Amino acid sequence: MSGGSNTSQPSSVLSRYRIVVLGDGGVGKSALTLQYVQHNFIDYHDPTIEDAYQQRTVIDLQPCLLDILDTAGQVEFTAMREQYMRCGEGFIICYSITDRHSFNEALEYRNLITKVRVTENVPVILVGNKIDLESQRVVTAEEGRALANTFVCPFFETSAAQRTHVDDVFHTLVREIRTHNAESGNSKSGSGDASGHSNQSSRWKRVWANIFKRVKRSTNKAI
Ligand code: GDP
Ligand code: MG
Repeated sequence: MSGGSNTSQPSSVLSRYRIVVLGDGGVGKSALTLQYVQHNFIDYHDPTIEDAYQQRTVIDLQPCLLDILDTAGQVEFTAMREQYMRCGEGFIICYSITDRHSFNEALEYRNLITKVRVTENVPVILVGNKIDLESQRVVTAEEGRALANTFVCPFFETSAAQRTHVDDVFHTLVREIRTHNAESGNSKSGSGDASGHSNQSSRWKRVWANIFKRVKRSTNKAI
């Protein structure tokens, strides 16, 4: 089951945003992504599957197409991982409020982005998921907020199960990317980094398109 590509309009007329969902295994990356894209909660999703989704939406009156990569969540470095870290325009770093290890790993993902991009100026959202499991909470909202402050990024606590703040996460990230692009002189989306050079921009677009194709191919094989 590979992504509702409900795009009937040519994507060239839409702003397009490349979003990567990162975080430890089991924190709810797939549940959040599927809840956003397909409006349902899945109890089980193979944790080893990386999948790619496209979602057309309107954010602040501006139609756009979100390319969302739901990653398989290991910090270990592979060539593909480096590629999507390089060409993603915005990152959602997830942890579970019921799992302290996943909270500690969030910092590792932030560091990895900084290392690959050689800058801290990359749009990021920090997400503490599973707030419906309040009785199992081990990471406080204050700790989450404090970490987001060190990342200088927005913070949300979410429940993929109950669809709490799911749209907020994706839409706030798009707003962050827009602000970032405006500040770095790229009025169009798709620059991929702060340089604004159009040859770099088209390179990132090619890399991203290849990742999408590859992920889709391996997903199809798995079915
Ligand atoms: P991923 O490995 O990060 O992609 O995690 P999954 O999306 O596969 O979720 C791992 C498990 O946590 C699954 O059993 C999900 O049903 C469950 N899960 C994900 N999000 C939530 C949530 O918000 N609340 C609850 N109660 N369970 C969740
Ligand atoms: Mg998953």
